[in-house]
Amino acid sequence: MINVTKTYLPDRKELGEYIDKIYNSGKITNNGEFVKLLEKKLEKYLGVKNIVLVSNGTLALQIAYKLLDLRNEVITTPFSFVATTSSLVWEGIKPVFCDIDKNTFCIDYRKIEEKITKNTTAIVPVHVFGNACEVEQIEKIANKYNLKVIYDAAHTFGINYKGKSILNYGDISTLSFHATKVFHTIEGGALIIKDDCICEKARRMINFGIMGPEKIDSLGINAKMNEFEAAMGLCIIDKVEQIEKKRKEAYYIYMSSFKENRNVILQQWNLECSKNYGYFPILLKDEKTLLNIKEQLEKNNIFPRRYFYPSLDTLEYIKSEYMEISNDISKRILCLPISSYISKKEVNKVVTIINGYK
Ligand SMILES: *Cc1c(COP(=O)(O)O)cnc(C)c1O
Repeated sequence: MINVTKTYLPDRKELGEYIDKIYNSGKITNNGEFVKLLEKKLEKYLGVKNIVLVSNGTLALQIAYKLLDLRNEVITTPFSFVATTSSLVWEGIKPVFCDIDKNTFCIDYRKIEEKITKNTTAIVPVHVFGNACEVEQIEKIANKYNLKVIYDAAHTFGINYKGKSILNYGDISTLSFHATKVFHTIEGGALIIKDDCICEKARRMINFGIMGPEKIDSLGINAKMNEFEAAMGLCIIDKVEQIEKKRKEAYYIYMSSFKENRNVILQQWNLECSKNYGYFPILLKDEKTLLNIKEQLEKNNIFPRRYFYPSLDTLEYIKSEYMEISNDISKRILCLPISSYISKKEVNKVVTIINGYK
């Protein structure tokens, strides 16, 4: 069976050594030694300051909204994993969708201004499949209207823009370390926070707003990462280069194999943006072609995924204008299997079926 992704599992002995240490210390959560160490290592690896680790990427978004006091309306993209939108709704914020660019799949910055009202408090774009948004343009708009910017950067682990971490853009960027992502901690996530004071506030907010043994400073929640999750992260952080190298091999077999295939359109990548080979989306000419190809792959025990389908403006619990481009792309896009475990033979099997489709 070839799945859209396969979770990287580190050497069991290495993980065991960390677990032995956890058993010896008896401390399994509450900002333990491994969480602190992983924060330091990630700051160094990613080239950012002010990382706060949390229990998942969705809570990272929710905490970001709370930290910056978002309310009323927030402009966001309809083409993402559901958490980008559901986290807003969960916090009582109305998502106002702005359609995407049909080539990059990221929010179309040229359409943001027309969505701004007196109730708008922020913009929440997504670097879709790791492809950088037009960050400078978005920053300009945000400054002009005094809006906050939070990037859902769940797909951008290790990605640079103009040679520096993409995570430095926006007031806050959030990461997900879910098992399906390029780097994972089983479940987990992080906030990367521009302002030092807001970062300190975040550290309290994820631990119930507790200041000291008998002092509760402000409203908080429980969003702490635990020591076992951090241990998993510590085992994987040193392997990320290896993981990406394996993914890159698969990525470029796909790239070169689809050059001649006029049925397959590839995502237009921002030229200033590096890659982590997290996803391999292909855009087909219509939904029928997609369903046929998906069925043929499945018959051969190959399981791609329709990321992202459906377009989020069509969710039952949302009232929104219909987003033409996002719906069109959603219906025609398929993410092909890619992971650090996939073999060349397996990639070629996927390619043969897709290129053989008439
Ligand atoms: C994975 C993902 C999330 C959610 O992260 P979790 O860690 O699973 O909560 C949010 N946004 C995007 C774009 C994602 O891909």
